[in-house]
Amino acid sequence: LARAEKQLLASYQQGSDESYLRRLQILQALPDAIASRKLQLHYQPKIDCTTGRVVGTEALIRWQHEQLGVIRPDEFIPLAEQSGDILRVTRWVCEAALNQQQYWLEQGVDVQMSVNLSALDLQSDDFVQFIATELDKRHLDAFKLTLEVTESAVMADLEKAQQRLRELRELGCKIALDDYGTGYASLAQLKHLPLDKLKLDQSFIRGLNSNESDRIIVQSTLTLAHQLHLHTVAEGVEEEAAWLLLQKMGCDTLQGYYFSRPLVAVEFEQWLINEAP
Ligand code: C2E
Ligand code: CA
Ligand code: CA
Ligand code: CA
Repeated sequence: LARAEKQLLASYQQGSDESYLRRLQILQALPDAIASRKLQLHYQPKIDCTTGRVVGTEALIRWQHEQLGVIRPDEFIPLAEQSGDILRVTRWVCEAALNQQQYWLEQGVDVQMSVNLSALDLQSDDFVQFIATELDKRHLDAFKLTLEVTESAVMADLEKAQQRLRELRELGCKIALDDYGTGYASLAQLKHLPLDKLKLDQSFIRGLNSNESDRIIVQSTLTLAHQLHLHTVAEGVEEEAAWLLLQKMGCDTLQGYYFSRPLVAVEFEQWLINEAP
């Protein structure tokens, strides 16, 4: 915590951080939130682009704070990354998501599970063993677990990340590159990474119907990804028109508010029964 506090203080003194106190409050409350289960997962369905059927779900973290209300991951994950708390957050997320997947499987609901990793997780020496043990405990198939990583998380320590991702794939897990198109690397450079899936960033998908350059970028990315044998996912699908266009373009899997927002587990079950396409 001390290191993160110092970083925060430095940014505060530089005058670049007006929300210093809020961030400090979040940082100080985080260890207790992890320990006392104030964190929660929401699940957003992933849809097969051709058939419209649910194929999986992405676990997205939420934090209900007594004074501050719901704190979004965009706000507290970067702080947890600075402080190192992210390691414990990720382990909590993996355990909770796999518990849910196991429970659903027992209820006859067979969905792939995706979780998000940070740079530090990829550097942590026992992460692969942790995943192997958690899958084993629950008798879950590794190929039904996808680990989503961003380009910047991988680039933080490329050698180590590559090694970790290789080990995770040897276990049978799938690796997805998240937020593709927002980083600096081209697909030609990324082809050396051990990847199974490419997630096109929502900034290209949201304007797909009105923006010709987005359409060109998405189409050429999908074509190139398939030539590299990568499974393609589009996130941020908010309209039926985007679905139809992505179907024509040959995208494999979709995610977005058009189908559903991220839902708590019981809502997700209700959604499957009542609304799933
Ligand atoms: P992400 O992994 O790129 O997740 C997608 C984000 O887009 C989610 O925001 C989701 O709610 C939102 N989204 C999904 N469909 C749509 C849509 O159609 N339109 C719009 N406008 N947004 C959509 P969320 O849940 O607030 O998460 C934000 C980010 O926080 C995630 O981006 C991810 O980078 C991070 N995050 C969330 N949960 C975790 C976690 O458990 N671990 C780590 N390390 N990061 C997490
Ligand atoms: Ca993600
Ligand atoms: Ca993303
Ligand atoms: Ca993101």
